[in-house]
Amino acid sequence: MFPMTLIVQKYGGTSVADTNSLKLVAERIIECKEDNNDVVVVPSAMGSSTDELIHLASQLSEKPTPREMDMLLSAGERITMSLLSMHLNSLGYSSFSLTGSQAGIITTSRHGKAEIEEITGERVKEGIDQGDIVIVAGFQGFNRDTREITTLGRGGSDATAVALAAALGAERCEIFTDVEGVYTADPRIITNAQLIDEITYDEMLEMSSSGAGVLMARSVEFGRRYNVPIIVKSTFKNNKGTLVKEKVMEEAIVSGVTHNDKEIKFTLFGVPDQPGIAGTVFGSLSEIGTNVDMIVQNVSKDSITDISFTAPSEQQSEVEEVLKQISDKLNAKGFDVDQNIGRVSIIGAGMKSESGVASKMFKILGESGINISMISTSPIRVSCVINSKDIDQALNVLHEEFITKK
Ligand code: ADP
Ligand code: ASP
Ligand code: MG
Repeated sequence: MFPMTLIVQKYGGTSVADTNSLKLVAERIIECKEDNNDVVVVPSAMGSSTDELIHLASQLSEKPTPREMDMLLSAGERITMSLLSMHLNSLGYSSFSLTGSQAGIITTSRHGKAEIEEITGERVKEGIDQGDIVIVAGFQGFNRDTREITTLGRGGSDATAVALAAALGAERCEIFTDVEGVYTADPRIITNAQLIDEITYDEMLEMSSSGAGVLMARSVEFGRRYNVPIIVKSTFKNNKGTLVKEKVMEEAIVSGVTHNDKEIKFTLFGVPDQPGIAGTVFGSLSEIGTNVDMIVQNVSKDSITDISFTAPSEQQSEVEEVLKQISDKLNAKGFDVDQNIGRVSIIGAGMKSESGVASKMFKILGESGINISMISTSPIRVSCVINSKDIDQALNVLHEEFITKK
């Protein structure tokens, strides 16, 4: 007999929002199982319940400890995993659920932002060997040193699923969500965005890290590192979806346009322009796990300079605390926070061999009267920081020029 193919399926919040959706999800799982596959399922928390738990916490505590927040938020996925498993049981399928910790998902110790280091997965493998459908709670793990439960950051169930697929040697990881796959831009904003059939890990990683929330960037990193094909598709339509893989037949100059409106800009004023200063500033920020993105250091005058950078808005208070300390330590003039910023980016592997793409982007934004305050590039991405009020217009004109007109 041939060994069965193993498939890991992940279902996002909207796909498991209520009992009717859970019934539909169970049908998808059973279809896959009846197709002669072994199935491991990673569910998210139901609907927007993670946000609701965060709101509950905020009503009782101004600054809850990261540990208690993880104890709270990890409960969201536990609700879904057990409901799904008991429903599968009631339909006559052998299934059981495991928390991240029970599944052997070992992470770093940083609460709220832990990274998966290893998956032992003994109980998952035992279940698969017995022919069970194993449900593993997404978004959570366990740190051996602190012996604490951790969570992986927003959207972290994607990372759980792809990392599990890699650790178990699954044939592929299927990410079921509320859209039909990865589009050339966020379909919620660009109504004529096109569904992408295939995209490389490199491009997807750039899309995810510049705002395409449909896949968490870290999940794409796992996919790339362990060469796990990732398919993004709709729970509700069960279409072909988008395949994320190493190479695609044709490299588009621009494959997608993304935006991120969840970042803010910090500027540290009047810092001495000396060797080691940037190291001090960004070293302290990395110690608290800040994802600093764009950095601009202004031309210095009288050996004094300003440094600006962007960071996720959810980290505002931590970053402010660090900047206060640094500002005192370096005798700087202070710092400023700009919340009215956003980022638009164009991504495409074909950019590597095509000149003039960045300048075309700047020209189009300029012609639309949109001011660019920061720029950053990679070989396959160009990003511009603009005023948040201009994001929708920028996305529209860039999508029109680089995708629709093509
Ligand atoms: P889930 O709860 O299933 O994990 P998410 O809300 O995290 O779903 O991700 C799906 C959402 O991502 C879509 O509803 C869509 O609005 C948004 N999105 C942003 N950019 C893109 C893109 N380029 N392609 C597809 N979806 C995108
Ligand atoms: N429930 C978590 C969140 O809302 C994790 C996830 O859905 O992937 O971010
Ligand atoms: Mg998600």
